[in-house]
Amino acid sequence: MKTIPLRDLRAAQDPVLGLPPAEVTTPDGPPLDTRGRALHDLRISVTDRCNFRCVYCMPKDVFGRDYPFLPHDALLTFEEITRVARQFVALGVRKIRLTGGEPLLRRNLERLVEMLAGLGDIDLTLTTNGALLARKAPALRDAGLRRVTVSLDALDDATFRAMNDVDFPVARVLEGIDAAAAAGLAPIKINAVVKRGMNDAAIVPLARHFRGSGHIVRFIEYMDVGHTNGWRMDDVVPAAEIVARIGAEFPLEPIEAAYTGEVAERWRYRDGSGEIGVIASVTQAFCRDCTRARLSTDGKIYTCLFGTQGHDLRALLRGGASDTQLAASIAALWRRRGDRYSEIRGANTVRLPKVEMSYIGG
Ligand code: SAM
Repeated sequence: MKTIPLRDLRAAQDPVLGLPPAEVTTPDGPPLDTRGRALHDLRISVTDRCNFRCVYCMPKDVFGRDYPFLPHDALLTFEEITRVARQFVALGVRKIRLTGGEPLLRRNLERLVEMLAGLGDIDLTLTTNGALLARKAPALRDAGLRRVTVSLDALDDATFRAMNDVDFPVARVLEGIDAAAAAGLAPIKINAVVKRGMNDAAIVPLARHFRGSGHIVRFIEYMDVGHTNGWRMDDVVPAAEIVARIGAEFPLEPIEAAYTGEVAERWRYRDGSGEIGVIASVTQAFCRDCTRARLSTDGKIYTCLFGTQGHDLRALLRGGASDTQLAASIAALWRRRGDRYSEIRGANTVRLPKVEMSYIGG
């Protein structure tokens, strides 16, 4: 470990955690957290705004006309995001996902994609609700985006319109998926959050529709992120039940994870017509393998989706910190990380003042 010169230490000190100088050192090797987990993935929220008001994520009664979304100058600029991302890549990150809010609402996003694609051999991807994808897919691909994940919670138009709560039709999301496939942003992953009584009837139709298409539907257990969605355990459809329901119609068999830390448990159709994934973050917590950090829209790092407090990198960036100081601050934060929220989830943790997913990045 190389120690930073004394004069740089004060600036490099973490403004939130107040890390002691002894911990502010540049890393020789990739940092591991207190549970031995490496830093492999970075999710970047490029906006806290969204054009949908999904009832389980940004309910209208909370995210209404008067909601205090971040002012423009609070957002990291593309240059700032790229500079932070470069430090993460130097520390071992190999996968970057752009998210939000709705990332395609951020103007000239393809410019950011181009800048991040220039950081080297990283798996650069994006999660979107698909509303603007048909228009933007070719430019994103040309800028260097490799793949895309599209959220789609139901094929039944009435159910989907009720869930996004802005009356957005399924057909336009399907057009976006087709445009992304045509642009070469494949294999496309389709994310469906399952909430009991709301869209669990959509599980088998979604599997049936995308079977044989090459796209991979991933069913996500409804989670207690943020504190605006009124989450209850009874609303969760366990991944095992999702697999059983699909398997009853289309026999399935489990397959190996593509890499350590992959969030989805993979299953393939026995007849060779493709695969699905289930993300069992509630019933089978995967904290043990979690290698993800999140950068919020205003430049705070969160080391857990269920974090209550971020680490303010924007203050360092705008305070004139050097790249070495930024990297040291990130590495020190990662080395201190002990998060395992989903493993200890219970009545008390559900009440914690967690940040909203639209802000931290889904
Ligand atoms: N707007 C983009 C989109 O719709 O994909 C990106 C942001 S969104 C927050 C990312 C993903 O988080 C979506 O697939 C969404 O369905 C999922 N999500 C939001 N709230 C959730 C919750 N409470 N439990 C599980 N997944 C959730």
